[in-house]
Amino acid sequence: MRIAVLTSGGDSAGMNAAVRAVVKQAIVRGCETYIVREGYEGLVRGNLEANDNGTANGANNDQSGVCTPPRPEDQGVEANLRFGYGGLLRDGEGDSTDPTSGKSLKGRYIVRVGWDDVRGWMGEGGTIIGTARCAAFRTIEGRTTAAHNLIKEGINALVVCGGDGSLTGADKLRAEWPQLVADLLSKGSITAEQAEMYKHLMIVGLVGSIDNDMAMTDLTIGAPTALHRICESMDNISSTASSHSRAFVIEVMGRYCGWLALMAGVSGGADFVFIPECPPTADSWEDEMCAVIKRHREMGKRKTMVIVAEGAHDKNLNPIKPDKVKDILRERLSLDTRVTTLGHTQRGGRPCAYDRVLPTLQGVEAVNALLESTPETPSYMIGIHENKISRVPLVEAVQQTQAVATAISNKDFATATRLRDPEFKE
Ligand code: ADP
Repeated sequence: MRIAVLTSGGDSAGMNAAVRAVVKQAIVRGCETYIVREGYEGLVRGNLEANDNGTANGANNDQSGVCTPPRPEDQGVEANLRFGYGGLLRDGEGDSTDPTSGKSLKGRYIVRVGWDDVRGWMGEGGTIIGTARCAAFRTIEGRTTAAHNLIKEGINALVVCGGDGSLTGADKLRAEWPQLVADLLSKGSITAEQAEMYKHLMIVGLVGSIDNDMAMTDLTIGAPTALHRICESMDNISSTASSHSRAFVIEVMGRYCGWLALMAGVSGGADFVFIPECPPTADSWEDEMCAVIKRHREMGKRKTMVIVAEGAHDKNLNPIKPDKVKDILRERLSLDTRVTTLGHTQRGGRPCAYDRVLPTLQGVEAVNALLESTPETPSYMIGIHENKISRVPLVEAVQQTQAVATAISNKDFATATRLRDPEFKE
């Protein structure tokens, strides 16, 4: 099997550990391993032909691809260990030289990698192979070009590490694959032999997202590190807040998911937390919040911390914004109040220990799932449930995640919470 791995959508800590685990496990299991740079953008751009002069391909370039079926001498652990493109992935431009052919790798987005290429990746933040948002991949033309590029490289299995958008795209690619192959054949872009050889594409999804917003898994890659960053920031804010007896309103990421905000509230000792799934039930959230904070102050607290998730709203779906919360605390409780927006500091930096363990276990499982997949099995998403690595149907997880957003927009907060936690009782 030739396995390619890509990272897509918003970056998250732990994506490099996931790529590393996929590459190493695939090699151990005797597969050839490729990385796709810049997410789906790289899949659509593909590789320059060997005799190209260094200009990047456009999404609609129509190279008549030469199929490169797996060569016997490339297979197995020993052969894979020989690969090593060294600095290729770090310089970002891909203008290193292929040590085997001596040709420039500039303009190559789908790159063969070996054991040495991913050495030291475990503790690196972000994603070294790059990520992007790719409009072309949302179109059938873009996905057809992506399919052509995969076939040209002889790749028949793909691991996608990204959020629900990326996994939706992955599921589409797998579902459409037979049609895409038929279209490429009818256009003469691939031969009948290629169409037969690549009639199935196996796909597995890993969830890389700081928001922890994916259904059917307890935790996503990057969420523990983002929480850790927020918690550190709250510790820093806490000491200055306490010194001046101030209030701080802290906005945290999470889109329409309140996991980061809620966990930050617990781990950082917040007085009040606003999350999308469970808005304040009182007619006036202002009254409800002020009553709680006043009580805490009367009990002797010198500092006040309020967490606002970026998707927070009241029970009528009116957004709750940090500046508004600040004004209320100032006007009604006379608290010297500041707003802190943590922004991208939540995304960046080295992964915490758990964001190394989780993607490593899941990356190994992703390769095992690919090798055990048949055309009849669904595409799997690798999750974690009650501390055990799990395989769930990708399409179900994506649909359930989208159902949460729909329930929130219908003000059906109990359903939204139950979809995330089936054991939730009102
Ligand atoms: P995330 O994966 O973090 O949720 P996005 O929603 O931006 O991030 O998705 C990342 C990429 O996945 C998009 O730029 C696009 O290329 C692809 N994608 C997202 N949704 C779809 C879709 N419905 N169909 C095809 N591709 C999609």
